[in-house]
Amino acid sequence: MRSEDSPKYYPAFAFEETSEKPNQDSNSEYNFAVDGFISYHRFNIKEEITWTKFYCTEIVRGYANSWIRNHKGLTLSEWIDALKMVGYVAPVRAVPGRSLDGTRCRRCLSEIETLPHILGFCPYSEALRNIRHHAVRSMLAEALKEVGFTAHQEVQGLATQGSVRRIDIIAIKNNSAYILDPTIRFETHADQPHEVDSEKKRIYEPTIPFYKDKYSLSHIDVIGLMVGARGTIPCFFANKCKNLGLTHIIVKEIAINALKGSIQILRNHLYGSDNGNFKLS
Ligand SMILES: [Zn+2]
Repeated sequence: MRSEDSPKYYPAFAFEETSEKPNQDSNSEYNFAVDGFISYHRFNIKEEITWTKFYCTEIVRGYANSWIRNHKGLTLSEWIDALKMVGYVAPVRAVPGRSLDGTRCRRCLSEIETLPHILGFCPYSEALRNIRHHAVRSMLAEALKEVGFTAHQEVQGLATQGSVRRIDIIAIKNNSAYILDPTIRFETHADQPHEVDSEKKRIYEPTIPFYKDKYSLSHIDVIGLMVGARGTIPCFFANKCKNLGLTHIIVKEIAINALKGSIQILRNHLYGSDNGNFKLS
């Protein structure tokens, strides 16, 4: 395990920091979310599959992932839904006691209805997942422009084997560039951001000769940038943004934006009335 991903568990959460604190005695939904969140941290503290390992790192805890303690940027109901996702108590069918109709996905029936399935795989939410991704990509591209890069989005190119591959962002400064691929994934393990980076390098490094020629560049790096589906910013992402000259503010805004997108996906899955905008393959 890399030292920057070493979990440093954070035992207590100071909900009093928000000025919009609800009356906990009369808000059972709030209590349910908070109880689930606290239980998660008490009883799953050694679990490998954990949101915590992304959240509890020294660099990022203080800003990008701080929404967990102060929900600025989220409405109260969004914050409650976010806590439910983190505590794994969102009312998906895989959670014991949440369904009388079995555990299969209510929308596609193809697999067990878990939170990772809803946020990352269910065809019912494909359009919303694209919106979530495109929003993060655009935020990143605009932020790069503000620090002096020329940034192009969704550029189509050719790999060395001749296949067509479209990159999310190419950020150019002087004779060098970065091909950046922001990717939203459900947080599963500490090395995941590095694995995403390796995955994206395998896909896009074969396009480097094409883009060198297209933009007359001498050097291009490919970076896969994972953002957690539940609003986490891994240290890997934060460090790369720091190297690119991006501020903490934009990194936090990206985290909040990805989280809002996931909340929208969850709500649409649980409560949306549209039953037919996708086809099973
Ligand atoms: Zn499904």
